Amino acid sequence: MKYVKLDDIITQIDKAEIDAHWDNEVFNAEYIIEALDFVPYIEDIRPAIKAHWIETNEHKHQCSHCYFTTNPWTASFYNYCPNCGASMR
Ligand SMILES: [Zn+2]
Repeated sequence: MKYVKLDDIITQIDKAEIDAHWDNEVFNAEYIIEALDFVPYIEDIRPAIKAHWIETNEHKHQCSHCYFTTNPWTASFYNYCPNCGASMR
């Protein structure tokens, strides 16, 4: 198994999109980068931060650790905060 930084993967996907455009190919990195949000992470190499979603007055969900805010529908896809990585379990 290889451990890599997600930011490094995103950088390489962005470069692939630039290269594709250079070759007049169609490649939209946005969809792949968004799909990476759904790749499960390995908890034991992440900081063991526990948090929970707080419902705001604007009917949004907010991470209790970093205050990242999203809509409840999006939050339902995550068992961790997509911003800080805190576990929402
Ligand atoms: Zn967070």
